[in-house]
Amino acid sequence: MTEKQQLQKDRAYFKFVLVGLPKPIQKRSLTPTEIKLWDNIMEARLVLLNSIDETSRQLGLKVPENRCYLCGKEGTEAFENGSLGTIFTCKKHSIE
Ligand SMILES: [Zn+2]
Repeated sequence: MTEKQQLQKDRAYFKFVLVGLPKPIQKRSLTPTEIKLWDNIMEARLVLLNSIDETSRQLGLKVPENRCYLCGKEGTEAFENGSLGTIFTCKKHSIE
């Protein structure tokens, strides 16, 4: 695996961890300080998630602008879907 592939893999895993961070927690069991700190974590998580793809591009990695709604690969074809808005599919999952 090249250095770039490793970077891509590590950053993809980091994003996976970030996405999965929120778990059902019982805030009533936390002190106000703990709640405040937890809220800070969630806020920082959003900042990271909103910037991670752009940062990956700046690091020279290829990040698809759109992803197939079925498999997550690069989405090349756009479709209008009433309630979902615009969705994308890869070539394999193209809706013809
Ligand atoms: Zn697909």
